[in-house]
Amino acid sequence: MKERVLILGAGYAGAVIANTLAREFRRKIAKGELEITVLDKNDMGVNQGGFTFLPFGLYTPEDLVRPRKESLSPRIKSRFGDQGEVTGIDLNRQQVTVKSGKNYSYDHLVIAMGARSDASGVPGLEDDLNTFYTSMDDALEVGELIRNFKGGRIVVSVSRMPIPCPGAPVKFSFLLESYLRDIRNIRDDVQLTLLWPMEPIGPPEFNKLVTGRLEEKGIEAIRQFQLGKVDASNKMVESTDGRQENYDLLITVPPHKPQKAVLDSGLTDEKGWIDADKTTLQYRGPLGDKDNVYIVGDNGPADILKTGIGAHYQAQVVSHNLINTINGNNIKSKYKGETGCPIITDMASDAHTGRAYIATWSYKNPPQSFDTTQLGWYLYRMYYYLHWDMSIKALM
Ligand SMILES: Cc1cc2nc3c(=O)[nH]c(=O)nc-3n(C[C@H](O)[C@H](O)[C@H](O)COP(=O)(O)OP(=O)(O)OC[C@H]3O[C@@H](n4cnc5c(N)ncnc54)[C@H](O)[C@@H]3O)c2cc1C
Repeated sequence: MKERVLILGAGYAGAVIANTLAREFRRKIAKGELEITVLDKNDMGVNQGGFTFLPFGLYTPEDLVRPRKESLSPRIKSRFGDQGEVTGIDLNRQQVTVKSGKNYSYDHLVIAMGARSDASGVPGLEDDLNTFYTSMDDALEVGELIRNFKGGRIVVSVSRMPIPCPGAPVKFSFLLESYLRDIRNIRDDVQLTLLWPMEPIGPPEFNKLVTGRLEEKGIEAIRQFQLGKVDASNKMVESTDGRQENYDLLITVPPHKPQKAVLDSGLTDEKGWIDADKTTLQYRGPLGDKDNVYIVGDNGPADILKTGIGAHYQAQVVSHNLINTINGNNIKSKYKGETGCPIITDMASDAHTGRAYIATWSYKNPPQSFDTTQLGWYLYRMYYYLHWDMSIKALM
């Protein structure tokens, strides 16, 4: 009997797992003993990490998209559009339904469908929604707004946690400060404020570095500010505990949640995400313990940090464990919480060198003291060109 691996979502984590398995099991696939199927609702991959840079023209939309067929091994069976859009996941019957009505059965399931933004989660936010978090078009629109901004107060608001890559709004704020200072030369005319929903900005050493740089650059940080509502007509935001701040331009990271199919299928826990064992990443949600179901990337537990770097590490662990399960030996590796958060404090311009650092950590090892460097800037800029041909193809 043919063994079936079904992967839901061909984004960062799903593609890495599919490509790793396709390479490892090339003989089994050729002999018809194993089938790897990937389902995704669209046929173009988007590297959303690049959205942070689009408003500043540091990448082009072409840098950030690739046809999925180019990124997935031809040994993988892939289905996109209505054939690939998941509408139901039945863990008890081991069956997944897609929009066209077709059902897929599986022996091993990987759920890697990411997170989606939900601006309707904050009253009034949709009346004044400027965000670089949701799509390339939205990020380019933010670019237009900051190019034409004449002066006043720009508020960057992170509505609440968890969001994918919590460091991205912080580096966006530093990029914006550099842009207003060194490119547009209007820094003195702009009050820049970051509304942050928690007290610390990341783990202690990360928070320390960021706090110092925010102060140095005159970016006001208002903490514990969970976005409660937006009053677009009066250009005012209010926190859930009643504090009010005015703005001339509001740039928001909306609340995030799992995909509709995940919610409709009853997979999520009381925190609103899919629970899993924090080290094996096997499903441990309200439908019971499912050892043949792996939860990877942004749709995973609320308390596992949602980053592309983390999704990559998780994908490696799950690939390894799937390979060993299918091969019938009992060797298991564990996800130890490896993750990372690239931080940028300065954008390169005629006036300044770019400065960045890719801070990494794990469950038990928080980041050590660090500083941003020019080399870090070059490495981080380079990454986006390696993403499609190295990361996604599971070659690093
Ligand atoms: C603005 C921004 C900046 C970021 N910056 C960084 C960074 O600097 N560093 C970093 O490490 N991370 C960063 N991230 C986070 C990173 O992009 C995510 O953590 C990573 O993409 C998660 O991978 P994933 O596979 O879980 O989800 P995704 O890559 O989002 O993939 C999910 C896939 O599921 C598909 N899908 C969704 N619904 C369905 C459905 N119903 N049926 C079938 N398919 C479906 C989607 O089309 C998509 O292909 C950033 C994110 C954003 C938004």
